[in-house]
Amino acid sequence: MIQDSFPHRLDTHYSGAVEFDDNCFLFLYRGKSILLKSDVGRFVLPRKSDFSTIEGIHNSTYIFTMDGVPCFVAGEIRQPDHPSFAFTDLSFFRTTTQKDLAWAAMVGYQLHRWYIHNKFCGTCGTPTEKKHGDRALVCPGCQRVVFPHIHPAIIAAVTSDDEILLVRGTKSRGQWYSLIAGYVEIGETPEEAVVREVMEEVGLEVKNIRYCMSQPWPLSSSLMAGFVAQASPDKQLHIDKKEIVEAAWFPRHNLPKYSSTMSIAGKMIECFERGTLRG
Ligand SMILES: [Zn+2]
Repeated sequence: MIQDSFPHRLDTHYSGAVEFDDNCFLFLYRGKSILLKSDVGRFVLPRKSDFSTIEGIHNSTYIFTMDGVPCFVAGEIRQPDHPSFAFTDLSFFRTTTQKDLAWAAMVGYQLHRWYIHNKFCGTCGTPTEKKHGDRALVCPGCQRVVFPHIHPAIIAAVTSDDEILLVRGTKSRGQWYSLIAGYVEIGETPEEAVVREVMEEVGLEVKNIRYCMSQPWPLSSSLMAGFVAQASPDKQLHIDKKEIVEAAWFPRHNLPKYSSTMSIAGKMIECFERGTLRG
């Protein structure tokens, strides 16, 4: 999956005050794009030294380290244009071979959005401040503390003997097949969400729901938990056309084109194909 970038290491543990020196990487976003330099076909992140004269740059926020190099996200700065760099749409993660850089750009984007969406306290409207020692924002007016938001979601590989249920959703890209997925509701366990989503989308009862793997997905601030589930014996499908274009059972050795293994959906389907999908 895209987050598995060994031997590269993205360390998102929040370690408090980190010195913002000229060597630090600077993450600058405009909409859903990040500022990068293309250098002989490879992307390069800007360093603080590339922008040190720009007003406001010193208010950048520490986000994580990439292979030990501290990374900062810039807030609103007046002159983000630079002759050597250009804003690149975050969808470059789909095609680049630099998965470690693409993953960092995606995680940085989640944190960037969280900071800009929480500039003011949602309770009393006071401007928030960075909380000392934690990755959190605190309201000096009412002392409310806001932590980064992560939305839990489930994805389910529904199987029956040597077959797997694959779907194409109304929001799917291209002709690729994938798995049933959806957000966990408030007050619901992930396992209950699997039962509900499968019933809602294809009208099927499932049992023996077992956790198998997970993937954070920063572009939607979600954390996807993957489960395997066993279909009821009749395997009859009643498709919700609002969510699903097509749903069908496929035998292990005759699967259609499916999602990339950068995603948990593709990884789980590949594991099923190889006979290694375990809950
Ligand atoms: Zn407040």
